[in-house]
Amino acid sequence: MKLFAIFGDPVSHSRSPIMHNSVFKNLNYKACYTRVHLKDGSKLKETFFNLGLSGANITVPHKEAAYEACDEIRGFASKVGVVNTIINENGKLIGYNTDADGFMFAIEEFGHVGKVLILGAGGTAKALASRFLQDDIKVDVINRSEGRLSYFKDIGCTCHTWENFESKKYDLVVNTTSAGLKDEELPAPLEILESVLANTNFVADAIYGKLTPFLKLAKKKNITFKDGADMLLGQGVLANELFVNKELKKENIKIQMQKSFEL
Ligand code: NDP
Repeated sequence: MKLFAIFGDPVSHSRSPIMHNSVFKNLNYKACYTRVHLKDGSKLKETFFNLGLSGANITVPHKEAAYEACDEIRGFASKVGVVNTIINENGKLIGYNTDADGFMFAIEEFGHVGKVLILGAGGTAKALASRFLQDDIKVDVINRSEGRLSYFKDIGCTCHTWENFESKKYDLVVNTTSAGLKDEELPAPLEILESVLANTNFVADAIYGKLTPFLKLAKKKNITFKDGADMLLGQGVLANELFVNKELKKENIKIQMQKSFEL
């Protein structure tokens, strides 16, 4: 029996255990998935091996620590320095990022997206910004503090703090901050969000399972919006494929994972 887990702080809200366990149970794959509340990201590797895990997902705020903990990084994760999936390959930790492609899957229904504003500058924002640029989508980023913006400037995004922001016309505004996850905070001051929402076609939030204050505001203004559930599904299917090392068909993983959203 293989054991998998999600690491995060907080982590009790995570739907990953139910998603992955549904796949394992219904497709008769001998594995179990649990959650680990990890406060100190530097303890990730040690905790992973102490628990005898075969693989794991990493959520807020440890995705950059996960990148540091890995022995090898593969694919898109090496471009962004952010890891959300780790695999134990013969005692070595291999890091991947499945968030960005999961998000692209989620916004397919919005049609053409040419210009995006990202709220926040953490691990998820890095992955999405880099993935958008790969598809020639123009990216603006706004964060409450200056410190984390240098990465985004270097890869070609237009960057702002709350103090120097000027709203433009966007196709999509995405909240990647954790404001609204465990509180009722907005991801930026109301006057900034009012001007942004007056100038966008679509809104998305990476947070799932609740209508965040940001999405409530978008709803009030009749803007088409979606929460992070489809992103969660997309990243989960891709992570599960890595966990089972292609022993299960992707389409079957997706069907079982999608069913778990009804539980
Ligand atoms: P990080 O901790 O790496 O980054 C958090 C960002 O949010 C930082 O830019 C931080 O700003 C900002 N922030 C935090 N609190 C506030 C606040 N009260 N007001 C304004 N800005 C704030 O987090 P991640 O990128 O890993 O995750 C972000 C969110 O995305 C989480 O809620 C997570 O659950 C969700 N998520 C959902 C996924 C899905 O599948 N649906 C996948 C991945 C993430 P500063 O730099 O100033 O500290």
